[in-house]
Amino acid sequence: MRQVSSFLRREQRALAERPPLPRALNEECGVFGIIGHDGPAAPIVALGLHALQHRGQEAAGIITHSEDGFHADRQLGLVADHFHAEEVLAKLPGRAGIGHTRYSTAGDGNLRNVQPLFAEVDRGGIAVAHNGNLTNNTLLRRELISKGSIFHTSSDSELFVQLTALSRGITLADKVIDAARTVEGAFALTVLTANHLIGVRDPVGIRPLVLGRLGDAYVLSSESCAFDLIGAEFVRDVEPGEVVICGADGSLTSRRLTAEGQRPRPCIFELIYFARPNSFVDGESVYDLRKRLGRTLAEEAPVEADCISPIPDSGVPAAIGFAQASGVPYEMALIRSHYSGRTFIQPDQKVREKGVARKHSANPGVVKGKRVVLVDDSLVRGTTSTKIIQMMREAGAKEVHLRIACPPIIYPDFYGIDTPSQKELMAASHSVEEMRREIGADSLAFLSLDGLYRALGKGPRDGDAPAFTDHCFTGDYPTALRDQEAPSSERHAQLSLLREA
Ligand code: AMP
Repeated sequence: MRQVSSFLRREQRALAERPPLPRALNEECGVFGIIGHDGPAAPIVALGLHALQHRGQEAAGIITHSEDGFHADRQLGLVADHFHAEEVLAKLPGRAGIGHTRYSTAGDGNLRNVQPLFAEVDRGGIAVAHNGNLTNNTLLRRELISKGSIFHTSSDSELFVQLTALSRGITLADKVIDAARTVEGAFALTVLTANHLIGVRDPVGIRPLVLGRLGDAYVLSSESCAFDLIGAEFVRDVEPGEVVICGADGSLTSRRLTAEGQRPRPCIFELIYFARPNSFVDGESVYDLRKRLGRTLAEEAPVEADCISPIPDSGVPAAIGFAQASGVPYEMALIRSHYSGRTFIQPDQKVREKGVARKHSANPGVVKGKRVVLVDDSLVRGTTSTKIIQMMREAGAKEVHLRIACPPIIYPDFYGIDTPSQKELMAASHSVEEMRREIGADSLAFLSLDGLYRALGKGPRDGDAPAFTDHCFTGDYPTALRDQEAPSSERHAQLSLLREA
């Protein structure tokens, strides 16, 4: 078991002095693709990306393919801000297309990093959309640059393009598979060539990818909620380590990146927080699971109270489960504004704090004089809960209890979730009692790791072969972390950044 690897111990010792890891690589994204559609692909891709907007709100892009070649449009901002206009979509002809919706942090919001990426390689053009982070990006990139490769972006996703170009594989699909076998870390890809839509999921299956059908067309998406919006039928999850090659002629071939046998460990955080509640991820209804997390939490950490309220929206299913299990009425102690975006996805702490205030308002009619239990899916920096508990008190709550429907997040993520620095994780440096005091709650409890696995229906966590990657809670990472384990001089050496005006 890759339990708390040595670099993390080093990191814990040097928390205060350590320069931050390059934030440029931190992103959680949505990918989509369609081939063989009986009409223009671009409007379908735009709709699909809209359904995946929660996975990234900073930029979006679409590349289509028609008889006269590839067509690209990539923009900063929300999908619907740009890809709604007929004249925009008309410039993206063709019955096949892929799209990407992107989250990255400040400083990296550079148009040249917006995906899909495109390059002309031996045997034709190739467009790539990637969700996840690679863990041998810096080392591979240095190696390729030293051999003469020319990189155009600071995104780790460009490695797929560069490695595909260098591969001696016979077909483009062979080349993409070669590239995917060379990288390590998390990747769910949609790749478009002149004749194929290719879906690739890393051997551990860290990030999700699903296959569907829309009439005769094949569709790929990060999440099944996109299929509901476009009216496609869900076929199945792309398996961890699987490559699906969908042809414009209606063919479907499945190949593997690795020999069968590696145990899949999808990221537990997709189920806890990222995925939309109406998605099915690896066969699991996200909504049902979140309710079960809430139920289990109510059993583990009951509290005498007058009402249970979610911290909306992500805490809603868990709060419903908590209320149902405890028999305490479910109320809306907080009202959420739907016009302010996700608080977490903001470049710095000050902006994030303002974001919390804009996003939630107390509902005094429910709260005044009451013992309120707030339920949220997770606690990361503690920003949301501190502000909200203060709001509850100002609105006259008698007691405010906080219940978190996952275990304390202690370890950073290197696979595409924005929790890169351990020093920003409240639970990494505080006990539960210290956190309770700091955020100002009357009581605070987290779901236990065992409770999490029970709710998942997986029995107790199997130490040697857990069914999920739960590294955020345990430090048990499912892949090598070569970039992080490299000597710090190499790890922190800055790659040049081109800032475009
Ligand atoms: P914080 O305010 O920093 O404690 O963050 C906790 C809030 O952010 C919770 O309400 C979660 O729903 C949400 N959240 C948790 N993890 C993430 C993440 N990786 N990206 C965006 N939001 C998150």
